[in-house]
Amino acid sequence: MNLMQKQTSEYIPFTPELLAPAGSLDKLKVAISYGADAVYLAGLKFGLRSAADNFTYEELKEGVEFAHSRKKAVYVVLNGFLHDKDLELLPPFVDFLDRLKVNAVIVSDIGVMEIVKKHSSIDIHVSTQASCVNDESAKLWKRYGATRVVVGREVSVAEAGKIKKEAQIEVEMFVHGSMCMAYSGNCTISNFTQGRDSNRGGCAHSCRFEYSIDFKNDEEKKRAFFMSSKDLNGIKVLPDYIKHEIDSIKVEGRMKSHLYAGTISKVYSQALDYYKKNQSLLSDDLEDWAKELQKVTHRSYAPVNLVDKAGRDTIFNERETTKEGEYIMVGTVVESVKDSHIVVQVRNAFNIGDKLEILPFEGDVINITMDKIENLVGESIERTKPSTLVKMPYSNGVEENNILRKKING
Ligand code: SF4
Repeated sequence: MNLMQKQTSEYIPFTPELLAPAGSLDKLKVAISYGADAVYLAGLKFGLRSAADNFTYEELKEGVEFAHSRKKAVYVVLNGFLHDKDLELLPPFVDFLDRLKVNAVIVSDIGVMEIVKKHSSIDIHVSTQASCVNDESAKLWKRYGATRVVVGREVSVAEAGKIKKEAQIEVEMFVHGSMCMAYSGNCTISNFTQGRDSNRGGCAHSCRFEYSIDFKNDEEKKRAFFMSSKDLNGIKVLPDYIKHEIDSIKVEGRMKSHLYAGTISKVYSQALDYYKKNQSLLSDDLEDWAKELQKVTHRSYAPVNLVDKAGRDTIFNERETTKEGEYIMVGTVVESVKDSHIVVQVRNAFNIGDKLEILPFEGDVINITMDKIENLVGESIERTKPSTLVKMPYSNGVEENNILRKKING
């Protein structure tokens, strides 16, 4: 039973929890405001994304308070493979998380799990890094004290449903984001080529590089990116996640942008809310949500292993570039004064005449054409600058923290 269902006695059909990445405190607020039921994040140590803006103690406290005040859950990743000297630093951090009442920690190492059990009563989720791909493994993790497994990215939705049923344990499964060519991250290419340990937070994405091999012909040359995977996109498989009662659908991407966190959270939460109300998902609506997902920067999409085993057509055989139809974030609304103006923190410059879109927390996108921009003392400006505040005419329904976006080359 997921958090939302624990907190209400009124009947709602089984609906998975939407779990979004929070690479920073700002992104946590964005993901939750745009509809995520839970977020996962890391402190300054012990996670697998050392390049993300991981949370300080103060940020963790603020993030947990923000989430809990909105009845949302926070899971903290402790899923690096820790050596003995790393382990010494873990107990005080676990004590701190216990006092904060985080909803769970995500672990991949059984030694880390032992320390969490000794020093806290926090729920334990087993990370996808542990490659749990069968129900015997899930049963064992449950006996050790885990309350949930994040299944390996190699299993299908149907297999995940069976693991849940046989092991009687909550199951979490990726629905969207970057994939890894190795078995759920157990890879050391980055260690050998860059001196960065992928299993202790340092992955340099070596699988995305272009490798030079002595190809015999043009056809073979097309395989130069043979280790780079397309991105996972499970929106059209959502009915299967519901049918197999997957407890939590997880979005990858703690290092991705605010626009990514907001857009993906909004699309999947809209789809889940629609299902809660109507107890079905129509293919036309799934198609519309799929179009919206095309607007964030991504490699080509594929369902990867969700239905059938991934094969050669899952390889992203090209250099990463932005594509027609993708958007960039140009700013965030920091103040909205009804019927008067909004104040926007500019992230990427925009000009008079530009066509922008405001992404409300719920409902349709608001289209605006910039015909008036002012600085804070009321002087008209033609072109904004990043990291400045500007005033723009009020648009109906715009709220604080809404994201403004602009089509690339639009
Ligand atoms: S280099 Fe690629 S395959 Fe290896 S861990 Fe990093 S993302 Fe995964």
